[in-house]
Parts: sequence; C-alpha cells; structure tokens
Amino acid sequence: MEEKREAVLRADNIKKYFPIRNTFGKVINNVKAVDGISLELYRGETYGLVGETGCGKSTLGRTLINLMPATEGDILFEGRNIAGMSERQVRPLRKKMQMIFQDPYTSLDPRMRVGDILAEVLQIQNIGKKEERQDMVMDMLGKVGLRPEQYYHFPHEFSGGQRQRIGLARAFILDPEFVVCDEPVSALDVSVQSQIINLLQDIQQEKKLTYLFISHDMSVIRYTSDRVGVMYLGHLVEEALTDYLFAKPLHPYTQVLMSAVPSANPHVKKKRIVLEGELPSPLNPPSGCVFHTRCPYAKDICRRECPQLREADGQHKVACHQYQ
Ligand code: SF4
Repeated sequence: MEEKREAVLRADNIKKYFPIRNTFGKVINNVKAVDGISLELYRGETYGLVGETGCGKSTLGRTLINLMPATEGDILFEGRNIAGMSERQVRPLRKKMQMIFQDPYTSLDPRMRVGDILAEVLQIQNIGKKEERQDMVMDMLGKVGLRPEQYYHFPHEFSGGQRQRIGLARAFILDPEFVVCDEPVSALDVSVQSQIINLLQDIQQEKKLTYLFISHDMSVIRYTSDRVGVMYLGHLVEEALTDYLFAKPLHPYTQVLMSAVPSANPHVKKKRIVLEGELPSPLNPPSGCVFHTRCPYAKDICRRECPQLREADGQHKVACHQYQ
C-alpha cells in the first residue's frame, strides 16, 4: 500500500499581483507575477521550482512564507491559513518557515560580527538567555562547517561559499520545518556549489525538513529535487517526480528547458530547441495559454482558453490542451 504523504504546506490558487498606479494613485494595471498556482509540499521532500528569470518563482517562494502578502488564495501551513495574516500574527510561525537567499551578503549588516547577527535572530524570537544564545550560535557555526572563532569575524572577511554557510546558519538556527531556498548556489563556483548542496541535504535528512528549491538550472534541480514544478510567466505548467520529468517532459516549455541540459553521455548529441521571441511581460500576459506566443504546437483553442494543470498520464500534471 502506498504510504500517505503528510502535506506541510498547501497553496490553493495563489495570486500575487503588483499594482501599477497612475499619478493620482488609481490602479490602472497589475503585474501578474504569480497567477493562480496551487501546490502541496510534503514533509521531508525537496520540491524544485524551475523556470527562466522573471517567471515569478522567487515571488511565489516569498509569498508562500508570507514575506509578501498574497493578492488572492489560501496558504495552509500546519492547518492554519497564513494568507492574509498580519506580521504580528505570522511572527510565531516565522521561525518554522525560513528562507535562504542567493546572496546573503546583502542582508548581513556589515558592522555586526557574524555571531551577533545570528544571536540577534534568536533574540527576536525570545529564545534563550544571552550565554545560551552564544552557545547555540557556536554550535550552529560548527554544523554549517565554520570555525568557532569566526563568531567574531565581520561579513566581509568571508568568501562567497562561507557567506552562504552563514545564510544557512541563519535559516537553520531557528529549527524550521519548511525552508525556501532561493537560488542558493547560483552565485557560487561549481566546486563550492556541491559543498553547499550536500550540506543542505545532510541537514534536511537529520531534521526531516521540507525544501522549496528555486533554481533556473535544470542540472541543479535534477540533483537536488524529489519533485519538480515548471513555471512559465506566473503559471505552473508541469509537475512530476524528478525522474519522470527528466525521462519524458510533456509540456512544450519543459521540453525546451530539457533540450538545453547537456547529455550525460558525450556520444549522444541532443537537439537543442530554441524558443522564438522574448518572455512576454507579466504586465500584459498573452490570452489563453500564456505560452501560446512561443509554442510551436499552438492552436486556436490555445489563444482562447487557459489550460488547467491536470493529471496527464498518471505520472505528470500538465497545463496544456494537447493532454486535456
Ligand atoms: Fe502550446 Fe497550446 Fe499546449 Fe499552450 S496549450 S503549451 S500553446 S499546445
């Protein structure tokens, strides 16, 4: 019998629009960064979210943990709807939902010692006394592969990889259950990337954490993720277990992304599919299927009706009229 998976977070029809106002403050249009996405994240899994720059994946990540309020939709975390909660209401849950950024340096106060930066995270949540917080920080520095004396160093004294270790320490010191990893290795050298990914995986196994792993790099997604969601212009267009998605991508956009991934076998040459045109603006997205302006299989119905994300073959969910 198939084991029932426990959903840590369930998002239902999430929209995140950024209003455009005229000089009188009247809303005249919206940038539709996320436009009706539903997904479930299960305990202990890594859900990879992939798509090209500007598709809305980082906005979705921030919205799911209520760093940005959703324009519409429900987000159930531990059975509570956090969409629409005020900052004060969400604060007790904040320590259970954390975020790791691409470049943590920009969010590290350059005048503070790293140990104090991490201790402050605990202090804000009223965790421990001063000496206890210091011990907890020392302990966490060791867990992410930094040395105890680095407690007293300033952010500029660290390399890029070490700064990302500080970013991990800042997220994990609150003992979260769900972590949004937003392009956490994109700014790092390839050799350092694997160290950070391995560290993320070790901590995940130890704590049974759930990750939303955002990346534009299909190879990183393949290596890190149990399931994958493919995003295009604010929409989720395909979702499947990683092995199924890489073995047989169904959505025409996923097929384009896959064609750019180098083959593991150097003797097998892959035909790269090149997309015509630019990613349309989320300020004025195409009617019907948002991919129809670049899709080689587009028909009349694609210009009129937006396809829903549905089961296609028992292994994939796809938003495409070819499968509905
Ligand atoms: Fe292409 Fe139509 Fe499918 Fe959209 S719905 S991906 S335009 S075939």
